[in-house]
Amino acid sequence: MLYPFLLQPFISRQNPILFLLEASSCNTLSKIMQAHSLLLTSGFSLHPFPPSKLLQLLLSLPSSPPLLSYAQRLFHHSPSPPLFSYNSLIKAHSNAFSLHLFRSLLRDPLAPLPNQYTLTFVLAACRPDSGLELGEAEQVRVHAVRRGFETNLFVSNVLIKLYGSWGLAGDAEKVFCECSNRDLFSWNSMIGVYVGSGDVMAARKVFDEMPDRDVVSWSSVIAGYVQTGWFLEAMQLFQKMQLAGVGPNEFTLSTILASCANLVALDQGRWIHAFINKSRLAVNERLLASLIDMYAKCGEIDFALDLFNTADSPKQTVRPWNAILTGLAIHGYSAEATQLFQRMDQSDVVPDKVTFVSLLTACSHGRFVEKGKLYFDMMRRRYTIEPELEHYGCMVDLLGRAGLLQEAEDIISNMPMIPDAATWGSLLSACRIHKDMERGEKIGKLIKELEPKHVGCHVLLANIYSGYGRWNDAKDVRKKIEMAGERKIPGCSSIEVDGMFHQFLVGDRSHPQTQSLYSYLDEMAVKLKISGYVPEVGEVLLDVDVEDKETALSRHSEKLAVAFGLLNTGAGMPIRIVKNLRVCVDCHHAMKLISKVYKREIIVRDRIRFHRFKDGSCSCGDYW
Ligand code: ZN
Ligand code: ZN
Repeated sequence: MLYPFLLQPFISRQNPILFLLEASSCNTLSKIMQAHSLLLTSGFSLHPFPPSKLLQLLLSLPSSPPLLSYAQRLFHHSPSPPLFSYNSLIKAHSNAFSLHLFRSLLRDPLAPLPNQYTLTFVLAACRPDSGLELGEAEQVRVHAVRRGFETNLFVSNVLIKLYGSWGLAGDAEKVFCECSNRDLFSWNSMIGVYVGSGDVMAARKVFDEMPDRDVVSWSSVIAGYVQTGWFLEAMQLFQKMQLAGVGPNEFTLSTILASCANLVALDQGRWIHAFINKSRLAVNERLLASLIDMYAKCGEIDFALDLFNTADSPKQTVRPWNAILTGLAIHGYSAEATQLFQRMDQSDVVPDKVTFVSLLTACSHGRFVEKGKLYFDMMRRRYTIEPELEHYGCMVDLLGRAGLLQEAEDIISNMPMIPDAATWGSLLSACRIHKDMERGEKIGKLIKELEPKHVGCHVLLANIYSGYGRWNDAKDVRKKIEMAGERKIPGCSSIEVDGMFHQFLVGDRSHPQTQSLYSYLDEMAVKLKISGYVPEVGEVLLDVDVEDKETALSRHSEKLAVAFGLLNTGAGMPIRIVKNLRVCVDCHHAMKLISKVYKREIIVRDRIRFHRFKDGSCSCGDYW
């Protein structure tokens, strides 16, 4: 097919200006290629403008490796390319070729002098992922200084980002401080650098000092808080953002939903969902996945499932599927998880490694040993996903919980990577459940050598010893933990009441309601004893009187949080608690009774999964 300018070759061939005008309509690769051939036959290729115009048109098409190599050829055919062509090509490549082109520009005495854009584009190309060395970026910077661009805003901004990408927050800060005419982009970049380096305090300081803030500034600091695990701070800043009248974008909302999920802040999460509906924001797959994740992690798995099934947005990417599968897994909805995977398998969505972690976790909680083995095999054979440490960990957990301790140990011995203490820890935990003292002791010693500072595993070992009444051994392990200067992570449970969060550590006495809380706990202990509660003192470390052990147990953080919930919420209201560690045997036992005696549904999310206590039993079926 011929294009308009080729229909009038006579005119075009006579005048390069006409050629330029007609070539402007070339918006596909084939049209540009036809214009290029006309350029070669007409002799206009010796003219500086037509080739650069074609290059500009070519680079405005969606970038691809063949297109870039064609652009290079076109560039080299130009007799004396203008600076604009150099800049466009440097920007389009943004890799080692950009630096190569920049150097050839410097070497050529007839070439134009680089300007601020050239320097900005070539510096942007010097990221660690483009295979260049930091020293090469420094050379470009030296050149920029020599050419008087040291304090140029564009150059400073790109340097801040560049140093950030190399993990050099200090160097980025230096550029930022020396830049006298910072704009919003400079401030936001500096915040981004600090968030990327994990220093959210520094990011907040910059945020507090900046003259104007946009949605990016607010969202970056909120994301920084969520990354660091400072969820309350993230929520507070989000509230301030609303007061400041800055509307959140999809990224802010996803981030804040993750925060709600972690805090089990269902009311806040629901408010954000309503906000999304009200503001008619398009719920894309990322936002849908965040909503599903929030509802699932706040205990509302049925609602999350409904949301997934009825969502208007297409579920063509793996993200929403993974969110619902993870939710089903942590709730112990194992059969539903495997059914959902079947649906996913029949759709066009290709599972990834996260899908299989969720699926294997679901199998582990549901005691689906054979299915678990099948999926583990399927992920390699059918989807060519090489299992990572996490997948092996799931298999060890699955086999260990089901009492197949030897098989679990074989998995660890045969895995291609070095097992970490957490993998051994999951087997150690299985040894405790299935009372395999000998294996437990062997593994405990192994972990001690592997990771002498892994407190969690040492505590588990001490628990195994105490369970068998071997107090001296238990004390010995404990002493070693103390000597190593490591402290056990304290159990911490939190509960949201009327939009306020209350956190309790084990034996906590810092809450303003402590007095009434502790007398309520004593009252609760009496009520439970009457209903047949016998404390499980086996796991308490110290070799002390049974009565003292009972007291120690009754002060566990989740019991404090439940008592607080009972005291401060209306009759019949469900109580939602999140705990940073696994719920202990005694607390699990007590929660079942509390749910019956006080006629309350108690939902506890521990480090591993959900427990829904109702009418004296738990959704996990005592298998956790
Ligand atoms: Zn407990
Ligand atoms: Zn349970």
